[in-house]
Amino acid sequence: MHIEKEVKYDFSDVLIKPKRSYYTSRKEVDLERKFKFKWSKLTWKGIPVVASNMDTVGTIGSAKVLSKYNTLTCLHKFHTAEELLKIPNSIKKNVAITVGIAEGLQILYELGERVKLFNFICIDVANGYTEQFSDFIKQVRAEFEKKIIIAGNVCTPEMTEQLILSGADIVKVGIGGGSACITRNVAGVGIPQLSAVIDCSDAAHGIGGMVMSDGGCTCSGDISKAFGANADFVMLGGLLAGHDENSETITENKSTGEKTVEFYGMASSFALEKYYRENKGKDYKASEGKLVKIPYKGALEDTLLDLLGGVRSTCTYIGAKKIKDISKCTTFVCVNNQLNNIYT
Ligand code: 5GP
Repeated sequence: MHIEKEVKYDFSDVLIKPKRSYYTSRKEVDLERKFKFKWSKLTWKGIPVVASNMDTVGTIGSAKVLSKYNTLTCLHKFHTAEELLKIPNSIKKNVAITVGIAEGLQILYELGERVKLFNFICIDVANGYTEQFSDFIKQVRAEFEKKIIIAGNVCTPEMTEQLILSGADIVKVGIGGGSACITRNVAGVGIPQLSAVIDCSDAAHGIGGMVMSDGGCTCSGDISKAFGANADFVMLGGLLAGHDENSETITENKSTGEKTVEFYGMASSFALEKYYRENKGKDYKASEGKLVKIPYKGALEDTLLDLLGGVRSTCTYIGAKKIKDISKCTTFVCVNNQLNNIYT
């Protein structure tokens, strides 16, 4: 047994210090960034904010809206090849097809020649620490040499390097921080997200890879903090859920008029039963996600513009002209949450 005594931070443990800035208006800020990826050698230009591959977030409807603003959508992995092929070609460059180890690469084979139209593959597993996962990334890289591969999740620098060296261009960083996640309670596992991003991005950038901070953003300020911590991309679940484009059922409380939608973790009993009918009778398998009701939020476009407006605002406070400059202009200050809790 070993204890690491260095304190690790979550988004809520810090604030970003304001700095002298030449920019007075949010309009002056450029949120698009051009990337060139280590293995695929492809370039992609866009706003590096990403919809999570949850079935209540990463839908084709979400992708159509998000792509208008050149943001990225990792589609959930339950789409059929037929559905994927119906996506307009102009949008395909801004979506990732998600695969897991259990399903394998079947969906990519089913797309045949037309898999060429998609730039990104997202390989998503709850626990990216197995040798089987690294081997799977190697297989995907060998078979789909020219695709931008996003793979995760991990939350430590050594494993970030391992996934990049296995063939990932972008490593998804985040275990236990998701809004519908209960891994930290069920398994006691995880690293506070801000520190995970700082440590993993340092490791990734050292060998030419990138990181995508995944989970734990509860507001636009958290997105800015993730970029400040040197994330190249920031993935959002709950913040982008609950909209017309990704809600199956909207429930209205007749007495209060309040509208809600169901949002659940992809490892929750609800999702496992919905897609795999597998949770019942498997006593060894604990659910690591929860089902919650969140407010219905209307059009996704409005939320996206609010969130991006918040990030622009951060840039004007710290003197960052481009999204890439946020980390260079960021000094975090630790805040005493104990005190915050007393006064709020
Ligand atoms: P959010 O932005 O809602 O805080 O976090 C979204 C992220 O939570 C997802 O992209 C994914 O990495 C993670 N996640 C989604 N479902 C589950 C789950 O059931 N269990 C766990 N541990 N994490 C989940």
